[in-house]
Amino acid sequence: MHTYATPIHVVRAEQPDLPVWCFRPDRVTTAARWFRDTFPGEPFYAVKANPGVHVLDALWAAGVRSFDVASEAEIELIHNRFPGARMAFLHPVKNRRSITRAYKEFGVRIFVTDTMAELNKILEATDFARDLTIIVRIAVSCDGATLPLAGKFGASADDAADILREARRHADELGVSFHVGSQAMKPTAWATAMADVSRIIITAGVTVDIVDVGGGFPAIYADDAPPSLEAYADMVEASFEEMFVLENAELWCEPGRALVAESESLLCRVELSKDGALYINDGSYGALYDAVHERWKFPMRAISGNGRKLRGMQEYTIYGPTCDSTDKFPEKILLPAGLVEGDYIEFGNLGAYGRAMASRFNGYGEYELVEVQDAPWPSLYGAVGAEVVSIGSIATL
Ligand SMILES: *Cc1c(COP(=O)(O)O)cnc(C)c1O
Repeated sequence: MHTYATPIHVVRAEQPDLPVWCFRPDRVTTAARWFRDTFPGEPFYAVKANPGVHVLDALWAAGVRSFDVASEAEIELIHNRFPGARMAFLHPVKNRRSITRAYKEFGVRIFVTDTMAELNKILEATDFARDLTIIVRIAVSCDGATLPLAGKFGASADDAADILREARRHADELGVSFHVGSQAMKPTAWATAMADVSRIIITAGVTVDIVDVGGGFPAIYADDAPPSLEAYADMVEASFEEMFVLENAELWCEPGRALVAESESLLCRVELSKDGALYINDGSYGALYDAVHERWKFPMRAISGNGRKLRGMQEYTIYGPTCDSTDKFPEKILLPAGLVEGDYIEFGNLGAYGRAMASRFNGYGEYELVEVQDAPWPSLYGAVGAEVVSIGSIATL
């Protein structure tokens, strides 16, 4: 991978035709160290947030050894790259063959369920293995989550008690988990969820070895900043103390977004400027799904393609590259005035659910990847951000 000082240097050197992922490995290192040093439990990285091998390698180098995987492809990816890694197969609905392969070929021992039927499937597909860790996922309220996730998965309180009792009979280790939803803006969501789950454990009357508090820890974008990550760690730690679990119970979490969001930005080329509209080379079918469909406000800046100074600001309509008329930003965007073909727009903090979401629709979806060393974007991990760039200017939506 080629290394440049900043994306401005990428533009000067390459005038890139493809959208360029600008990877900042130190952002992964800092986030992984924060979870290791400050979060009270073991992080299982949710691979779906960004399965790029350079990102995975940076996480591994920073000491991440546990991975939340949801499919055979993710299991093979992690197994082949890091043979010693610990994997938890945390999709509540698994294909039977996938369970067997995970157990027999890839050494997976940790499986999640939220129904009795899935519990039976796990037991049958592993020939009633005696060394399973079964995690029962419980539905909790998603108060404060930007992307709530309770609609689809998680056992109700009544069902959970039955599943916990049955799982306890077969599991070597028994855990509970929940997911408060992604980009959760309120640390109190964990306090509520952990108190609810604790009551269910008491109702079930089982001993519990593991409490897995899921993912959902936030990243910072261009709109309201979330509370500090320390506030989340403190809330989880205090709530764990109150739970009805074994004295030596383990605490786990499944961060995706919070570990990788700051690690990549995307540099897009303006292909046409017309009547206040910019047509750029990535969009809603590429890495900008959340920007278009969820109306998320990513921090942005413009970089001029020819080194001229950008002055003043103007509002633009922004279109992605595909023929679909929904491939268009939902609101006008304020950027430096007079952008033309060959200028660039960089979207910051797009390391989570960016590349992971990109499709090949209409023949787009190919990217270049470089490493850069600047730190222009807002961060939840301390002293970086808001460096002034010489050409181009930072513009937040
Ligand atoms: C997506 C997902 C995660 C990661 O969520 P983030 O919001 O990225 O932290 C963790 N666990 C499960 C089960 C998930 O589906």
